[in-house]
Amino acid sequence: MREVLLLKCGELVLKGLNRGRFESRLLHILRARLAPLGDYRLSISQSTVYVEPQGDAPVGEALEVCRRVFGIVSLCCAAVCPKDMAAICDTAARYLNDELEHTRTFKVEARRADKRFPLTSPQIGAEVGARLLEEHPHLRVRMEGAERIVKVEIREQYAYVSGERLPGAGGMPTGANGRAMLLLSGGIDSPVAGHMMARRGLELGAVHFYSYPYTSEEARDKVIELARILSGWTGKLTVSVVPFTHIQQEIRDKCSEDYFTLVMRRFMMRLAERVARHQGCKALITGESLGQVASQTIESLNATGSVCRLPVFRPLIGMDKEEIVVRARQIGTFETSILPYEDCCTVFTPRHPQTKPKLENVEKQEENLDIDGLVEEAFAGIERITLG
Ligand code: ATP
Ligand code: MG
Repeated sequence: MREVLLLKCGELVLKGLNRGRFESRLLHILRARLAPLGDYRLSISQSTVYVEPQGDAPVGEALEVCRRVFGIVSLCCAAVCPKDMAAICDTAARYLNDELEHTRTFKVEARRADKRFPLTSPQIGAEVGARLLEEHPHLRVRMEGAERIVKVEIREQYAYVSGERLPGAGGMPTGANGRAMLLLSGGIDSPVAGHMMARRGLELGAVHFYSYPYTSEEARDKVIELARILSGWTGKLTVSVVPFTHIQQEIRDKCSEDYFTLVMRRFMMRLAERVARHQGCKALITGESLGQVASQTIESLNATGSVCRLPVFRPLIGMDKEEIVVRARQIGTFETSILPYEDCCTVFTPRHPQTKPKLENVEKQEENLDIDGLVEEAFAGIERITLG
């Protein structure tokens, strides 16, 4: 039985004049993401993308890839058959046989894109429904609140019987809203923050600060692995790995201990902005959540945010840790994030960090540092790694 994928587009439906642009972006992304699996023919009509495998291109793996493409609200496999009622009923009976064994209530919804088809939609629905009842006498038809809605669609060339509908990744196609730079640590929060903003149609770049030898090779590999998992959602993702050791040593030698983390965070923001501008990103993204640690109080966020001009997106700001963990599990980063390697934030951690810093005091702490020189030096040492 020949199968295709049907992908239901999300918010693009609402986008009026932008719709064409969004749809072509989504098709472009799908083509790129599916290309490594084989040859697929893609078309879009009435907010549904049809993905037709050519030759021996696999359906199941393509489904897994498409589940992680932003801009798709739901998706399913569908069986393809000739446009006559006998074939449609046979296909529905065979294709849905196993699934309907475990279903109690159903209804058939038919749609004709081809209005020349001799039966009306309600007639098609009634015939297919009758056939499925014959095959599975335990089933009951329910027009409202049916457990399973079997969709039959008559299009130009073929008819399609849909399989089980799965939730898609939602959001908007990658890049529809521009590009932003994610500050990616090895923790639980920043990969989730990146995923949330990528889902809103942002193409991501990532920047990671590491302090070899204070932080290990393993800690760095862990971040690369997190980026690889994220790239399963975002497509190609480049991580700029920034050497941060010298900056941290300078801070340790020239600032008072209670300001270590704040001054360090301000350097991260400066460098992230520098990298962002270099790569055409128009915002920064962090995994900060209000009150989670000393550097995430209102005063601390103000002190760290004030060194950059680009908008800083903090999608987790109002979320509890438990909620963030749920999302980390859903997107597949949790198990990697909890591997026990140190982050540069845990190097030279103050015993009593400032929680309500005054901006002028933080600035005073930086007076003995060659800020521009240190930023330039770190920027020059960046190594880029592309995943996905
Ligand atoms: P996470 O779980 O994302 O590490 P966190 O709760 O540990 O966050 P912090 O360590 O204060 O919080 O970091 C706050 C944010 O700063 C992170 O979410 C991340 O966006 C950024 N950040 C922290 N450390 C790094 C790093 N080594 N490289 C890049 N970004 C970092
Ligand atoms: Mg962290």
